[in-house]
Amino acid sequence: MTIQEKPAGCRRRLTTVTVERPRCPACGGVKLRKYRTLADQGDGSALWWVRCQCGRRFRVLLE
Ligand SMILES: [Zn+2]
Repeated sequence: MTIQEKPAGCRRRLTTVTVERPRCPACGGVKLRKYRTLADQGDGSALWWVRCQCGRRFRVLLE
């Protein structure tokens, strides 16, 4: 019997999925400011237009 098959009442360990924060391609910074968003592109993904502290602008695609 594996952990996942234990009867109800036992605490299940949930799988952890890590989401990395987007980084600036120019300086590697994470302090980004969104100035435009496209919340849903129809397939559940989102697009952000961001501006880094260093002045670099780029897009972030959230799948
Ligand atoms: Zn930067």
